[in-house]
Amino acid sequence: MASVNVNCTVNNCYFWAKDNMCSADSILITSDSATNEHPSMTFGQEEEGNLVQSIGTTPARSITDTACHTFKSR
Ligand code: SF4
Repeated sequence: MASVNVNCTVNNCYFWAKDNMCSADSILITSDSATNEHPSMTFGQEEEGNLVQSIGTTPARSITDTACHTFKSR
């Protein structure tokens, strides 16, 4: 699987690292509409694969419609 560098400015996240880099091994991002349908959704709540499969696909209309669900407050 290809690896990518994730740039993130959410500096109060446990996974946030120097120079606005994400240090998580993997992250989950969905559309805001999916969040509204699953309001308690967090990455650690279920096994990663099960959670991703249960959500399915969640197209977004614009950048403001997406969010990272791996966020964990410091
Ligand atoms: S887990 Fe999400 S919110 Fe946290 S640093 Fe990584 S990309 Fe940003």
